[in-house]
Formats: sequence, C-alpha cells, structure tokens
Amino acid sequence: MPLLDGFTTRIVHSDRLDPIEHGSLQKPIHATVAYGYDDARDLAAVFQGRQGGFTYGRQVNPTVEALQTKITRMEDGVASVCFGTGMAAIGTMLFALLRKGDHFISSAYLFGNTNSLFMSFAAQGIDVSFVDATDVDAVRAAIRPETKLIFTETIANPVTQVAALDAIGELAAEKQLLYVVDNTMTSPYLFQPKSVGASLVVNSLTKYIGGHGNALGGAITETGLFDWAGFSNLYDIYKQGDPRKWGITQIKKKGLRDFGAALGPEAAHHIAVGAETLALRLERQCASAARLTAFLRAQPWVNAVYYPGLTSHPQHSRAMRLFRHPGALFSFELAHQVDLWRFLNGLRVVIKSSNLGDNRTLAIPVAHTIYHEMGAQRRASMGIDDSLIRISVGIEDADDLERDFEAAYAAASEQ
Ligand SMILES: *Cc1c(COP(=O)(O)O)cnc(C)c1O
Repeated sequence: MPLLDGFTTRIVHSDRLDPIEHGSLQKPIHATVAYGYDDARDLAAVFQGRQGGFTYGRQVNPTVEALQTKITRMEDGVASVCFGTGMAAIGTMLFALLRKGDHFISSAYLFGNTNSLFMSFAAQGIDVSFVDATDVDAVRAAIRPETKLIFTETIANPVTQVAALDAIGELAAEKQLLYVVDNTMTSPYLFQPKSVGASLVVNSLTKYIGGHGNALGGAITETGLFDWAGFSNLYDIYKQGDPRKWGITQIKKKGLRDFGAALGPEAAHHIAVGAETLALRLERQCASAARLTAFLRAQPWVNAVYYPGLTSHPQHSRAMRLFRHPGALFSFELAHQVDLWRFLNGLRVVIKSSNLGDNRTLAIPVAHTIYHEMGAQRRASMGIDDSLIRISVGIEDADDLERDFEAAYAAASEQ
C-alpha cells in the first residue's frame, strides 16, 4: 500500500480499504446483536471458522471489527481484539492464557487497577513477581521454571519510569517467554512495542487513542513475533490456520467469548473517529508537556518534576531513543509550604479529574485518590509522595495552561 505509508494517512483511510456499505467514508455503527443467513450451511461454516462472517455481538461486530483492523495497522500487528475497557483487555488476556501454578513477572511501576488485578490473579493461584522493570537484571533474576510471561508498561504512571523495553524484549526472546507491553501511555503514535520484540500489545482505547474522554475501550494486538507452538497453555482446537494467530484466537474464544467483556459498536465508533487525530493531538500535547515541565522545574515552589523529556530523568536517554516524543503526562511535587488542596482548587483551566489522555488537561493528587487503596508502604516503594500531582496534558493553548499554574500558586500562597 505505497500511498498509505504515513501514520495518519493509514488511520483515516483504513475503513475504506474494505468495501463499506453505500460508499460511506467511515464504517457505520452496526447496532445489532445477531446476524441472519439465507443458507443454514453458511451459518454453520461461519461458526466452524471455514468462512468469514458474523455470528453474535459478544464476539464481533462490523463496527468493532473495523476498529480492530485500524488498531492492527497502527501497531503494525497481525490481528487485534477489542474489549469494553482496557482493564477487560488485560484481565481477559491473562485469564485466557495462564493456568493455576503459572508464574508471571510484572513491572512494579504499574497502573493502580492493573496492580490490583494482578493481586487477584495471585489469589487464584497464578503467582506474580513485581520487579523494577527499568532494570533488565531485576527481570532476569525473577524468572522461574514456571514463568510464562513478562508484563510491563512503557512509561509508568504517575512517576514516569521508562521500562528497559528493548533489553526485556531480548531477554523474553532468549527465554521464550510471552512479552506483553501495555502501550497506553505512549500509544502506537509514539512507540510500537513490536519494535522491541513484544508478543502482545495492550492499549486502553479510553486514553490517547480515543482522546475525547467520551468512550471506554481496550485492545490486545498480536504482533506475530511469538512462537505459539512452544506455549503449553494453548488448546489444540485453536492451533489451526496461521500459527501467528493461535494465541489471539484463544484470547478471543476463551477470553472475549466466554468472559463477555465486549466493546459496543457505539463506543467503537467514538474511538475510531477519535483515533483519526491521534498524531495531531499528541504532537501538540507532547510539545505542551515539554514546555510546562520546563516552566515548573524553574519554579521555587516546585520540589520535583517527573517527565522523561527532562535531562534530569533517570531514563531520559532511553526515552529519547525509543519514543517519538517522551509523552504527554508528567507529575510534580509541590514544595512543602504550598498547600496541595488550595493549589489544586486554584486551577481554573486544568480540571481535577482521574482520567488521562483527554483533550482537556487533567490534574489529580495521586496518593489521595487513584493510589489510595494501595497503602502508604507500596506508594513509598513506587516513589509516590503525598504532594505528588499528576498532569495529563490536553490540547489547550500552552500559554493558558502555564498561566493557570502560575495563578493557582498565587491563589494558594495568598494569606
Ligand atoms: C487507563 C489504563 C488502563 C485501563 O484502561 P481502562 O480503559 O480505564 O480500563 C490500563 N493501563 C494503563 C497504563 C492505563 O493508563
């Protein structure tokens, strides 16, 4: 497809590469649960996988399928499966691929709900080791005979640690372990995990890919790099056809079909439209993040700023080498004389909210909200101070954002 090389060109023309009803330029919303067949033999052939087609909305829908194809193109993969949320994608994937007695290794710097989910897997007899994934030696040291999989995020939230993504990829290949990378914080515009040897890629579509904060969704993408023939947890019935798709077929059948966390067609449509501007939004968001972190670092009322784009960041050079830009999320600690709540309440443009990847800039005091349940000890081990504020930079004009931070400090320091 020589004329569709560019990232955004590929996204906005993706639907059109398959015939669309009535010459529609986008895949329409197919608000249907089931599909009728004139010839019952076709229905049987679709059920048996001998013929393409649709069976029931819990497994697939034309609008969702068009989004899956789009995400596969964005990640340069071989197939994707969508879910109702990012958490559903992660949970369903692990549920479909791991068994009691298995062990997996996860980065300790993890989205809070993913951390909670992994603890639930541990309670079900699937053991997990949390390690410092910025250091490949820590990952290597945690490998056991029963280890099946390594899981990491790209840029962790909220302190923005950057995992040793390429070194872990080499380790996973050497040990023939599944390598799962949660690409939510970077999105396929900033980074393709396939480039470092990932087997499966997770995206929460709720965040940068959808971008507008109006729909939840998640996806798992198969990169085609993993040798599923050596993976002992696959059912024989899914070892048919293209061997690169055996794993994602089991995720779809044993995970999505049996567990049922399907993405609805309306949400898929919102996400697909949002995805068209992913690159445009992130260019601006990353530029604003760079500017705001430089501004905040120079303020005497700020104790620390965490952003991989800063030369002071411990993984700065790794981030600059791996990612197109070092992200649109940062966090900072206020100096102790500045009251956290007065500062936050002084913000007028920036919204106090828990989401990230939205077009609007969002701020949250992490220790008191999304990382509250985790407890002080685990927070300390993750480097989360009580005064830490996470900022997800939106697409507003950077001047307005900078002035908002200045005004919030002025409001917080008034007698
Ligand atoms: C938000 C997020 C998730 C979960 O996605 P939801 O769509 O909210 O379920 C998973 N991983 C990361 C890194 C996230 O930021």
